[in-house]
Amino acid sequence: MTSFLPSNLPLELLERHGHAPLSCGSAVNSLIRDNAFSDTEYRNVLTELRQHTEESLAIYVHVPFCHVRCLYCACDTTVTHSSEKVDRYLDALESELALVTDTIGRGRRVNQLHVGGGTPNHLNEPQLARLVEIIERYFYIAPDACTSIECNPRRSSAGQLELLYGLGFRRISFGVQDLNADVQRAIGRVQSLDMVRDVFLTARETGFHSINLDLVYGLPFQTRAGFQSTLQHILALSPDRVACFSYTHDPATRPHQHAISSDHLPSAAEKLALFHDAVHAFTEAGYRWVGLDVFVRETDELANAQTEGRLHHNAIGYTPLPSKQVLAFGPSGIGEVGGVLVQNEPDLKTWQARLDHYQLPVAWGQRLSDTDRRRREAILSLMCNLQLPANVAADLAQDYDRLREHIAQGLVEMSADGIRVTDEGRYLLRHLCAEQDAFLELEAAQRRLGSN
Ligand code: SF4
Repeated sequence: MTSFLPSNLPLELLERHGHAPLSCGSAVNSLIRDNAFSDTEYRNVLTELRQHTEESLAIYVHVPFCHVRCLYCACDTTVTHSSEKVDRYLDALESELALVTDTIGRGRRVNQLHVGGGTPNHLNEPQLARLVEIIERYFYIAPDACTSIECNPRRSSAGQLELLYGLGFRRISFGVQDLNADVQRAIGRVQSLDMVRDVFLTARETGFHSINLDLVYGLPFQTRAGFQSTLQHILALSPDRVACFSYTHDPATRPHQHAISSDHLPSAAEKLALFHDAVHAFTEAGYRWVGLDVFVRETDELANAQTEGRLHHNAIGYTPLPSKQVLAFGPSGIGEVGGVLVQNEPDLKTWQARLDHYQLPVAWGQRLSDTDRRRREAILSLMCNLQLPANVAADLAQDYDRLREHIAQGLVEMSADGIRVTDEGRYLLRHLCAEQDAFLELEAAQRRLGSN
């Protein structure tokens, strides 16, 4: 694709949505959550799933521990150095797996397993082995399943990487964020290029099929020159995928972010330029820009899926697999089962206490109406396949209207088939989607008020 810094992009869109997180749960975040959604209701949903034994499942396991809190962190995690605390988490996780599979049946086929966090490789080697052993006790992980794990390079060793490979993980992702020393100090995450390179090459030698690196733009003290240096070092490693996430500064809900002064953050225009530089660097190097902020090799299954208009996004991330059933385990895990979105209790102790009482630890759930589902499909179509087909949005005239407003700005184009995001519009895709989210949230709130 053409790579240029669009000088005429409406930056007010960035300002309006610049701090809105829009990640895996974007379409989830837009909905009013039913906190009264009970353990019994979730059990009913799982009972329905029991009838569909032919359906493959995707599993997300959240490991909620880190050895130190990075100052930019937006994840649900707990800092701990207690091995007993992790053991207790694994006990509770096993209870959760048992409770769910008591209902849907043991040994169900899984075609996607993702272990995220937190820092999954904060667990010691016996704990990592136990984690996989208990998952395999309750589910059948298909030999061709996509198995992935998130790791912190500062916690990785050759022995641990060999163990993870031996346990069946074939895709691994490492958080790099930025290699500039000033940026690393400001975010409380110092990791040298030599260390990152060493861990990356060791993972290559170990045999992982896909090694992904995560970057973050919009961090304190990030400059275009500094970030371009990071991009060149990353390209030299030749990762299979790179995710380039936007930093969301929100100290009101994440108090540790108070340690980052907003005076040191790049402006909206500078942030856009940083992202543009990432797009330019990766696309020039032959990577395909997928979805909002992921870059993959042309041979990657995600690139093929995007070409063929069948790229999906579920609670785990972008996927070519059309699995509609995502079971989430661990505190804060978000899943989708039988058209119902569910999230577990985010608080570790509450999650454990619910399981101690043999309750499914669901915090909220949302059964999607047909309209909700179509709206969600529309957002996902925009995110994944950069278009809103007329048939998807047939009943969503107001959603169409909001997007139409951006035709004059050159962000979207209209045709008989629907609306397509332009090359310029891709830079603001996050914000075009967030506008839809904001609209959905407003309408869902109105619906809720109307029903009281
Ligand atoms: S390692 Fe990841 S999850 Fe843990 S504190 Fe840092 S950013 Fe947050």
